[in-house]
Amino acid sequence: MKHEELRSLVEDRKEELIQLCSEMIRIPSENPPGEMDAMISYLCAYLDKHGIQYEIVKGNESAPNIIARMGQKDGRVLLLNGHCDIVPAGNLEKWDFDPFGGEVRGGKILGRGASDMKTGLAGLLFAMGILADNKVPLNGEVVLSIVPDEEVSGQFGTKWLVENNVIHGDACLIAEPTGSLNCEIGQKGCCWLKLTASGVPAHGSLAPFAGDNAINRLIKVLNRIEAIRDITPRYDDATAAVMEKSRDMAKKLIQAKGAQHVLNHCTVNLGKISGGTKVNMVPDYAEAEIDIRIPIGVSCEMVEEQVIRIIKESGVAGVSYSFCWQSEANSTSDTEEIVEIVADHVAKIWGEPLARTYQWASSDARFFRYAGIPTLQYGPANLEGIHAYNETVDVQDVVNAAKIYTCTIIDYLNGKN
Ligand SMILES: [Zn+2]
Repeated sequence: MKHEELRSLVEDRKEELIQLCSEMIRIPSENPPGEMDAMISYLCAYLDKHGIQYEIVKGNESAPNIIARMGQKDGRVLLLNGHCDIVPAGNLEKWDFDPFGGEVRGGKILGRGASDMKTGLAGLLFAMGILADNKVPLNGEVVLSIVPDEEVSGQFGTKWLVENNVIHGDACLIAEPTGSLNCEIGQKGCCWLKLTASGVPAHGSLAPFAGDNAINRLIKVLNRIEAIRDITPRYDDATAAVMEKSRDMAKKLIQAKGAQHVLNHCTVNLGKISGGTKVNMVPDYAEAEIDIRIPIGVSCEMVEEQVIRIIKESGVAGVSYSFCWQSEANSTSDTEEIVEIVADHVAKIWGEPLARTYQWASSDARFFRYAGIPTLQYGPANLEGIHAYNETVDVQDVVNAAKIYTCTIIDYLNGKN
């Protein structure tokens, strides 16, 4: 089937797509608390209506994932992915409209999840529905995973599904919000560092002659901890070119002056500190927790080497480190086939080139990339409302995204026509 025909199949039924978006917004799936039953039933009913096969796979009792499949086994596998949970609406009085009303007004769909990411997910579902209803033959398989826990770190959703080989494919498209002319092809990683200092207790009146103060030891190391930002990322020219574009984009999007530097540098946030027992005692214990985000080109190992060096150079004894959480930075080449296909359809529909950029935050995309699957994120968005108040999305962006998803599935599985 030709691209024009696929696009007009979506165009002709766009009211159904908008209704699907509204209905999904009307089902609150805030996480926390993460109660997903109503949302899962609704999505399953949609798949049933279009005769799409699916199963519910639970990473644990409270984490039902839907895996929907269509097409045929011999051929390539295109993975589609989206989360159906949303961050809480927060203080309802700060909204100009009902976050769970699903209202459509002034060319926009309004509500929590309008951008992140119920309308993107609706676009993926709708694309599959269109292909199923029209019995469009597929020379491979499309596998949609709908996960319930991306907003609370995805441990029993995407991570679990990929690591247990429930889903595996040749490429992956995630409908996370990026805006119509941008896609995300890389993300920072993260190391949560804990420093602990031990000392020798004594009566406070005898300091510093008696005892050894653990807080003072810790402070000496903390005074040097910013040196983690000096680690130089190592990457090739192609990555450097994407990095430059990403910095330009960040400069436009983030108001804080200089914030584009977070893309190609480690960030260091001393987030928590505690120690000591009583003011008149020389403390024998202190600890600090530091959130370090690492750019593409820096590994967790490089961070660890720097931490060891910093502790050594501070010249104090009794300070040790551990990592409470680590994830590597990850990326997909900007010339991967799946990226080129999406870019091709963005250019056809919007008449503009698709920017391919790295992000300073992270998402479930990393789990696919760790498994070696080329992955991009592309989805409709008005970025200002995401995880904030008054979240919206433009109807036109949603409809065009659904057209792009439909054509991308066909091109990836059946070859460009
Ligand atoms: Zn999201």
